[in-house]
Amino acid sequence: MASSKNYYELLGIPKDASEEQVRKAFRSLAMEWHPDRNRSTDAEERFKEINEAYQVLIDPSKRQMYDQYGRVDIDPNGGFPGRGFDGSDFQGGVGDIFDAFFGGFGGGGQNDASRGNDIQYAMTITFKEAAFGVEKELGITRNEICSTCNGDLAAPGTSTDKCGNCNGAGKVRRAQNSIFGQFVQVIACNVCRGRGQTVKTPCPTCKASGRERQTRNVMVNVPAGVEDGMRVRLSGEGDAGSSKGRAGDMYVTLSVKSHPLFRREKEHLVFDLPLNVAHAALGKTIEVPMLDGETEEFVVPAGVQSGAVLRKKGKGVRNLNNSRYGDLVALVTIITPKQMGARTRELFDELAVSLEVDEEAHSPSNGKSWVRKLKDVLAGENC
Ligand SMILES: [Zn+2]
Ligand SMILES: [Zn+2]
Repeated sequence: MASSKNYYELLGIPKDASEEQVRKAFRSLAMEWHPDRNRSTDAEERFKEINEAYQVLIDPSKRQMYDQYGRVDIDPNGGFPGRGFDGSDFQGGVGDIFDAFFGGFGGGGQNDASRGNDIQYAMTITFKEAAFGVEKELGITRNEICSTCNGDLAAPGTSTDKCGNCNGAGKVRRAQNSIFGQFVQVIACNVCRGRGQTVKTPCPTCKASGRERQTRNVMVNVPAGVEDGMRVRLSGEGDAGSSKGRAGDMYVTLSVKSHPLFRREKEHLVFDLPLNVAHAALGKTIEVPMLDGETEEFVVPAGVQSGAVLRKKGKGVRNLNNSRYGDLVALVTIITPKQMGARTRELFDELAVSLEVDEEAHSPSNGKSWVRKLKDVLAGENC
């Protein structure tokens, strides 16, 4: 398959377009002409051309060749002058296109290095630790690079052989059929797993896996203001990657113990405040024992109602995102006595009389006894 199309025209870019311009033009055209999105009959053909243009122009050496010769011969047997140009890594299939969309297109020849797995751990912390932050050691087990062979797979001091499958290149070519016809892909050699060398004497520690299980104590830094169920990420503390790939991350899910007095509503520190009728009527100053061991004076105003929410600004917990402090919040419940001694009863009898006026003022019947009002309503309905 030989091509003499004008790749610059196909992508609608000038001859001196930057790599970024090439990428941008390709992305928007590929979006427009992808056969999955574009139903016109020539979509597939256009898409192939755009793809071909992109894969030549994005690669500096191919682009230079194209600029010099005006065409790129992509026939595997075409013997194009230059260096072994056989189209193996630029006649990409759909998979390569999607790689390109996500910026992962590397012109083929990927190695086998892969990122290690993320690992998950759970850690329980106290309510106070969640509020103020804590550094805690956590015992974990993970895959690390083998300490005996340092990930080389072979027993130390032994030699390796050049891989016969890939002839030491670490990569092999594989023909595949796609909706665009056959294409050739370069993949990591599955015999040597991209290393180009095969092991004669496997490492006795890791049995040539390159990794070994290790138990470690990892310091977890929990920031102030975390909440139950949040996760802390420790970058690079997960399993080691294969073939010297990057290590995964470690995630620690936090479980926060409950507190006998407080609960959290985001950065606010909330507690229930039961008050008897007398204290509710007269008001009261209470001493709240805080998480830091100090006490906080909390003034309940006279005449507070059940269900009232009282706040003391800035006495809550640090907000994880903006470092501001939440409030100390009291939820008032008025407790009426269920059992009374004779003296209390006497006092309540007196209170009942003196408070009757107050009660009627708050009734929905504008001063009229609400029992009387109810009777009027019922009488009216009977008529
Ligand atoms: Zn080893
Ligand atoms: Zn190989």
